[in-house]
Amino acid sequence: MLERGEVANSWRRERWDSLRLLTPNWQSRLPGLRYEGPDPDGYMTAGEVTEFIERFAKVSRAPVRTGVNVTSVRHTGDGYQVSTSRGEIHARTVVIASGACNQPAVPRFSDAVPAPVEQLTPLRYRGPGQLPDGGVLVVGASATGVQLAAELRRSGRPVTLSVGEHVRLPRTYRGRDVLWWMDESGVWDQRYDEVEDLTRARRLPSPQLAGTPERTTLDLNALTSMGVELVGRWAAVRDGRALFSGGLRNMFSLADLKMERLLDTFDEWAKTDGYDAEAGPPERFAPTRVPESARLQLDLQSGEIRAIVWATGFRPDYGWLHVPVVDAKGQLDHEGGVAGSPGLYALGLPVLRRRRSTFICGIEDDAREVIEHLARFLAARR
Ligand SMILES: Cc1cc2nc3c(=O)[nH]c(=O)nc-3n(C[C@H](O)[C@H](O)[C@H](O)COP(=O)(O)OP(=O)(O)OC[C@H]3O[C@@H](n4cnc5c(N)ncnc54)[C@H](O)[C@@H]3O)c2cc1C
Repeated sequence: MLERGEVANSWRRERWDSLRLLTPNWQSRLPGLRYEGPDPDGYMTAGEVTEFIERFAKVSRAPVRTGVNVTSVRHTGDGYQVSTSRGEIHARTVVIASGACNQPAVPRFSDAVPAPVEQLTPLRYRGPGQLPDGGVLVVGASATGVQLAAELRRSGRPVTLSVGEHVRLPRTYRGRDVLWWMDESGVWDQRYDEVEDLTRARRLPSPQLAGTPERTTLDLNALTSMGVELVGRWAAVRDGRALFSGGLRNMFSLADLKMERLLDTFDEWAKTDGYDAEAGPPERFAPTRVPESARLQLDLQSGEIRAIVWATGFRPDYGWLHVPVVDAKGQLDHEGGVAGSPGLYALGLPVLRRRRSTFICGIEDDAREVIEHLARFLAARR
């Protein structure tokens, strides 16, 4: 196992200071290692996740070589030539586990943002103190965007949040964490070959969830109540002005509708599985409030906005992979983790084999199945 940094590098170096997992502690499970602390319903800090993964590396005796950067992987006649910062390796098979979130996905028009406005991505953001005083425009309303908008607003800054397609979820439902419902009802176990539109499922933004000790819901209504101003999806920059799409009402209705459908699925499962009597009654939530007149543009030269935080998602980095298995959008072409080159595999990508694939609790089943394929591949060659 080659790691360019240290074990749990992304949790050490690429997370902001206040970040906690949005998955509850009991859901942090790796083969042979489970959370056994006093607060199963709490949410780990990034430091605690680092310790958890470090412990796993020790108990599993993973043969990790840290400080080894892979600079190139090429297909050769009988396997792969792997060039690293510490020399060459020949491998019959390669498993790509380099992460799904190596780079921030920032729109090209960010180049046209006037210079005095500071721009930051979540990979560099550590806390509000890093930003100049004054207004902040947070772009993107998925897990990262809603969490950073709330933190920046609490620091006393005026915050505008640009909202595109998003996934609304309550933190708790019928007395349980909403991710308990995802887990128990089998929604998270839906397999990649059962998903109706896999390409879409793989591009789905992360849910609007935060792990806080109070287990509060952090949807757009919560942000509006905190004084965050909502605007539409940022479409372009023209003459130093940010231009936002209209249609917030439609976008909000769609997210509300999808949430209701998911809650219906949970209720249906509770009824058939006999959980109805134990759980509280079904709940439904107030629709997302649409601002009376959402602004369609914002003058970036007026001084109102001093900083922009791009919470517009992440993408993997395969700059080192010289095998023709990466599509025009920079995504790995694979079938359930089996890439289109003999002996090349991947783990840890969205909906790799099931809906829970990119989460910590998703790796165990995915890894077992992918490694079974790998073992069969090696056996057949022998
Ligand atoms: C902001 C954020 C919040 C998240 N919150 C949660 C959560 O609440 N719950 C949850 O379950 N999951 C969460 N995730 C998903 C989380 O990233 C995964 O659960 C987990 O970290 C994925 O592990 P991984 O090993 O697949 O990828 P990563 O953690 O990205 O690890 C990939 C490793 O590969 C190394 N690497 C990359 N390229 C090279 C190279 N060329 N040579 C050598 N080494 C290389 C990197 O240094 C890194 O250590 C979150 C992700 C992000 C970005």
